[in-house]
Amino acid sequence: MICEKCKTEVLENDVFCRKCGTPIKKEKSQKIKKPNAITAKHVLIGIFFPPLGFALWGLYVQENPIQAKNYLLFSGIGVLFYIIGFIAANI
Ligand SMILES: [Zn+2]
Repeated sequence: MICEKCKTEVLENDVFCRKCGTPIKKEKSQKIKKPNAITAKHVLIGIFFPPLGFALWGLYVQENPIQAKNYLLFSGIGVLFYIIGFIAANI
């Protein structure tokens, strides 16, 4: 791929041109919508209701492992926040 502005060769995974900083347009990847991408739903349930997030992980782990992983990831972050909050409250 080549930068539109300065015509420098850029790598496939580059988001910005390394030379001039122009955002690289990716025609192919922008059109493909990832069905299993992280959404606000994963973040909110995981962080505010970790037990529900773990339950949903168990529910989706067979049919949609990537979806399930998102719930697990944010539930883990949610639990971490609670632990930090618990420690901070007891100092
Ligand atoms: Zn450039």
